[in-house]
Amino acid sequence: MSTTILTFGLIVFALLCALLYLVYVLITKEDIIKEMAETNQGLLRSFNDLDEQAKLIIRTDLELNKIREEMDKRLHGLNALQRTARQMNQALNETEIFQRISPTLFEDWAFGHVLIASKNEHDILKIRLNVGYAQPKAEAILKEIDTLEFLQKLPQGTAILSSINSSVKNKEKLIQLFETEHFIFSPIITQNGNIGFVFVGNNTAAPAVTEADEELIAIFAGQIGQSIENAKLFEKVFRSSQQLELKVADRTKQLALALQKVNEISKKKSDFISAVSHELRTPLTSIKGYAAILMAGKIGDIPSAVKERLAKINTHSDNLVGLINNLLDIARIESGKEEMKFALYKIKGITDNVSDLLNPQISAKSIHLQINLPPQVEEIYVDSAQIERVFINLLSNAIKFTPQEGTITITVASEFDHGYALISVSDTGIGIPPEALQNLFNEFYRVDNEINQNVKGTGLGLVLAKNIVLAHHGKIWVQSKQGSGTTFYFTLPSSPNAFEEHLNPEKNYA
Ligand code: ADP
Repeated sequence: MSTTILTFGLIVFALLCALLYLVYVLITKEDIIKEMAETNQGLLRSFNDLDEQAKLIIRTDLELNKIREEMDKRLHGLNALQRTARQMNQALNETEIFQRISPTLFEDWAFGHVLIASKNEHDILKIRLNVGYAQPKAEAILKEIDTLEFLQKLPQGTAILSSINSSVKNKEKLIQLFETEHFIFSPIITQNGNIGFVFVGNNTAAPAVTEADEELIAIFAGQIGQSIENAKLFEKVFRSSQQLELKVADRTKQLALALQKVNEISKKKSDFISAVSHELRTPLTSIKGYAAILMAGKIGDIPSAVKERLAKINTHSDNLVGLINNLLDIARIESGKEEMKFALYKIKGITDNVSDLLNPQISAKSIHLQINLPPQVEEIYVDSAQIERVFINLLSNAIKFTPQEGTITITVASEFDHGYALISVSDTGIGIPPEALQNLFNEFYRVDNEINQNVKGTGLGLVLAKNIVLAHHGKIWVQSKQGSGTTFYFTLPSSPNAFEEHLNPEKNYA
């Protein structure tokens, strides 16, 4: 019995243990299942999030593609616009500007209908480009445009009308007029206001216009306005330059005529002086001759008072002969009748002759004569007798107007300039007042000063010197400072070539 009870007890105990184990296992599994269910929920949420993000990425990618396509289209359109703008800018008139707008431009921009019009000189709208419209239809559109008040009153600037920005009423009118569902209408504006328009459109099947299209057409219409403005400006400048050219030609003709007249008058003057001088010389020679006979006592003795007067007649006659000779020489050189005997001469030879000739006057006033001749400028191509006269006239004046113990300097520049020697004769004399300088080379001009009042002169010496230098194609000018001294400059050719070249006014010696 006890064994049975023990066995039963053991069995009950074993069953209890198994039950306990079962309870333990059940409790533990429920936790795991709970944990797994939670994990599952989390996974589901993440999956949903990922799904959302994938959808977002796809949407963004689609949008980016659209934007890229739009950008490509815009870039392509802008490239085409830039090419056309360059072409238009090179046009010189309005007609040429429109000729340079190629219809293929609008193929690039994907517009099947294009109408560009601008006002002519009579303020009437004219078709400048037509793509996609039959001519009568295009003409009808132009006529109709004038009646559409809202188009006439378009604000200044780049305001445009399009199928995506205009009011329903305006849009309907434009669709009806141009017969296109999608369109852009841009006025052409210049400084004179609204002078035309650019219209582009597409029918219903084509994609609608975009803001980028609007921008493109606005820039294009602005470019047309700018090119018209430039062409007008060019035309204005061109016309005024043509007028100027005509004026210059007219003025040149007038000046040439005036110069011809001056030359004729100058020739008449020279001829007159020559004739008068010749006429005067003959009686003068007689007067001098009779005075000489009387003075020599060939007609009988004459009282000393009469002799004195006769001597005066002789001196004045000599002065008059000198004056007449000078006048004759000036007239002959001016008219080219005096033939220059050109040859190469050493400058030193000429200056030596002149200084020898004038040595008595120079010594009488104890004047120091200085002559600076550079060895490299040795010879000049001149008529030596005439050039000696130039030196004599300039030196005589220098001696006359320089006080005792003054200095006179003859200088030849150390280099030829354009084949011409530059020679100067300067003194330390009384100088010349500035207001007298411009008259110095005029016939009979003498400065009113004490020396001139006491010493006789003709006022022809400088005129003669000038004419001789001009006959050598040289120049002569003067610089002077009152109280300090005067310098005369003149230029002479060094060779036949240099002389010939100075005949060409374009190579004028400056
Ligand atoms: P003339 O000596 O017979 O008066 P010129 O034609 O030689 O005529 O000279 C004109 C005038 O120029 C002179 O009267 C004098 O007033 C002025 N002149 C010329 N050379 C000099 C000089 N070296 N210094 C000052 N005055 C001068």
